[in-house]
Amino acid sequence: MRYTIDGKNGKWEVVMGLEVHCQVNSASKLFSSSPTAFGAEPNTQVSYVDAAMPGMLPVINDWVVKQAIRTGLGLNAKINKVSRFARKNYFYPDLPQGYQISQSDQPIVGEGVVEVKTEDGGKRAIRIERLHLEQDAGKSMHDQDPHKTYVDLNRSGTPLMEIVSYPDITSPDEAAAYFKKIQTLVRYLGTSDGNMEEGSMRADVNVSVRPVGSDELRPRAEIKNMNSLRFIRQAIAYEAQRQVDLYDAGESPVQETRLFNPKTGETKSMRSKENAADYRYFPCPDLLPLILDDAEIEAIRKDLPELPDAKRDRFIAEYGVSEDDAITLSNDKDVAHYFETAVGREKQRDGKMVSNWILSELFGHLNKENRSITESPISAENLGDLVDLIAENVISGKIAKTVFEDMLKTNRSPKKIVEEKGLRQITDSGAIEKAIDKILSGAPDKVAEYKSGKVALIGWFVGQVMQATQGRANPGEVNKLLKEKLGE
Ligand code: MN
Repeated sequence: MRYTIDGKNGKWEVVMGLEVHCQVNSASKLFSSSPTAFGAEPNTQVSYVDAAMPGMLPVINDWVVKQAIRTGLGLNAKINKVSRFARKNYFYPDLPQGYQISQSDQPIVGEGVVEVKTEDGGKRAIRIERLHLEQDAGKSMHDQDPHKTYVDLNRSGTPLMEIVSYPDITSPDEAAAYFKKIQTLVRYLGTSDGNMEEGSMRADVNVSVRPVGSDELRPRAEIKNMNSLRFIRQAIAYEAQRQVDLYDAGESPVQETRLFNPKTGETKSMRSKENAADYRYFPCPDLLPLILDDAEIEAIRKDLPELPDAKRDRFIAEYGVSEDDAITLSNDKDVAHYFETAVGREKQRDGKMVSNWILSELFGHLNKENRSITESPISAENLGDLVDLIAENVISGKIAKTVFEDMLKTNRSPKKIVEEKGLRQITDSGAIEKAIDKILSGAPDKVAEYKSGKVALIGWFVGQVMQATQGRANPGEVNKLLKEKLGE
């Protein structure tokens, strides 16, 4: 659904592009051998290169280059066999070099495309403009002392991939779906942990508005460093409305960088947006051009795992699950693995049934406890066994829920629980008949009522028999036998 805002003189649409920064999964930095581990004491992971001591030279980290190629291939993008590093010059206390080594007009990855599905069911292809490698800056710490700012250089030189989209995004919902898709992809590829809380994935969102139907690009605001899907949505909605209000008032937004304040839900101006020329980009004289050969790229391509879109399509084709369920199951690599283990490659259990147990019962529990699938108290194998017990008519769906509750608490095998608690379904019609006879002879008035036409009473009889058998009688069998005995 198109996201529009009503202005005084007509409707406006929103135009957005995202710049997503992902920290590359790498034990060491982009141009030095210092560790990148999160949460270390300030300034304990800083080499002379990271601190920009005079005379120090950067050396490219080959592992990081491979991760960028891997990510580019996952984005269906063109890998540039020749790319170059450039200096982006600006001053900041946490940037000791006085410039960031990044890539400018020759990034390592060129155009690509990702498909996103939004909450209203719409599907869109969002074009990627480029992916480039760059180093992260250090961190200024303003909250350690009332009068001083401290600088922690642990993050200085940490490898980042910046993934830049074209301004193809048309709603807050789509922006969130796109960001989530990038996160899913890098996690599948293993090239970034995509962890937003620890800042290893964050986005700058470029927002502008234009009258519906027009194809012009108006001045945009860049909202920096968004690290939550909820904030991304809020910030976009606020910013788009602010720009429409300006136009309505006869003013025009300026191209600038803005910050989102999660407490107020508003964005506020940080600085007027620099143009590329302001950074005085020039090729970094300390680094040779990065030259890749086809064999290297092909080797990485061969090593790619099955990616989420392919997995989703296969889940639909192979297991018959709905598209929505297939998306949920394939969005997270660990959930996908759990699902396939529970279905059992050889056993081929009913995929829809397994999927239902995971998505409603298991997720219901995990969400309540705020746990991830890898922390599930029920193993995928045990869940598969539970589905077998239902499919083989050993237990009814209702009893299965009782067994499931027990499994959550004890992580025991469902077979053991069924045997120990004597939950096996009674399918023997002799035993069921006995129970029915007892109920009928104990309630002659109800039998008479039924026979005189109050057939709705059948529900009451079924309930009594189920109760008498602790829910273990096969409900279909109970129904059939009851109707026989009541003379139908
Ligand atoms: Mn950047």
